[in-house]
Amino acid sequence: MKTHTLKTSIQNTLLPTSTAGSLPKPSWLAQPEALWSPWKLKDEELIDGKHDALRVSLQEQQQAGIDIVSDGEQTRQHFVTTFIEHLTGVDFVNRKTVKIRDRYEASVPTVIGAVSRPKSVFVEDAKLLRQQTSQPIKWALPGPMTMIDTLYDDHYQSREKLAWEFAKILNQEAKELEAVGVDIIQFDEPAFNVFFDEVNDWGIACLERAIEGLKCETAVHICYGYGIKANTDWKKTLGSEWRQYEEAFPKLQQSTIDIISLECHNSHVPMELLELIRGKKVMVGAIDVATDTIETPEEVAKTLREALKYVDADKLYPCTNCGMAPLSRNVARGKLKALSVGAEIIRRELSNKN
Ligand SMILES: [Zn+2]
Repeated sequence: MKTHTLKTSIQNTLLPTSTAGSLPKPSWLAQPEALWSPWKLKDEELIDGKHDALRVSLQEQQQAGIDIVSDGEQTRQHFVTTFIEHLTGVDFVNRKTVKIRDRYEASVPTVIGAVSRPKSVFVEDAKLLRQQTSQPIKWALPGPMTMIDTLYDDHYQSREKLAWEFAKILNQEAKELEAVGVDIIQFDEPAFNVFFDEVNDWGIACLERAIEGLKCETAVHICYGYGIKANTDWKKTLGSEWRQYEEAFPKLQQSTIDIISLECHNSHVPMELLELIRGKKVMVGAIDVATDTIETPEEVAKTLREALKYVDADKLYPCTNCGMAPLSRNVARGKLKALSVGAEIIRRELSNKN
């Protein structure tokens, strides 16, 4: 049995709230309301600017009443490529155009040799976040399958082999994050919603390799992506019921991962699919990141109430559907607040029942 190190404040909080990951960056750091937005600062100023943005992002989560806080991904340009930029074996100059998640074309770096991680990627940032708060902190890393899907492989010639190498590298990073006090390490695997055969053949095994030996809590985030056009167009082709989660859930339920983070609000995912992962902790997405409309707390509560039919109350973690980087800061603030007030409605309902 693994010993759970999650802060007692969380163990005692019913329905602890958190976000899936990214939050908007201040306009002095990067162009707002855009993905892959270039930095506006350079060198020392950039390092300071990223750290200041991390502090601001943390404060905004705290003021909204979020229980499990994060860095808002303020120090990275993109949730996958920023990690890959720190690895050897990848050529960022000679790029190739590939189709990401079978959905949209993008110019991506090429794997030209054995991949390795010469030094930690996010550990200094995580230390900074740890120093700022005694609340539980969550850190997101890209998952192995999503990483290989964001690259052109000219060396391993095998998606599985490359994913396995990334899993080993992610495990090194995750162990260092755990050592500096990260409470939950999350792997973002939107690719799990697309490549079903690979997920079951080796995707979940690679994820388990990435979390091997960790004592902190571990999570996997599986979503339908940011609210960008390529994703919303793709969603239109999925029909009225989105049953993609059904493919990976049985094996995920059996896996060693502690928490599964999902898109639920305003999505066409039938909530009863959550029954397939009963026993796992579930971060239930109760905030739609593909619209500027701010949910009312009652709308958030309605989604959580529905989820409670399939997730035990002590295992339900209210969350956002995905990252909020492309939204305006004002909208993101409103959504964080709605999440926290909506969760409070359900907490009260639950305590009245007992
Ligand atoms: Zn997501």
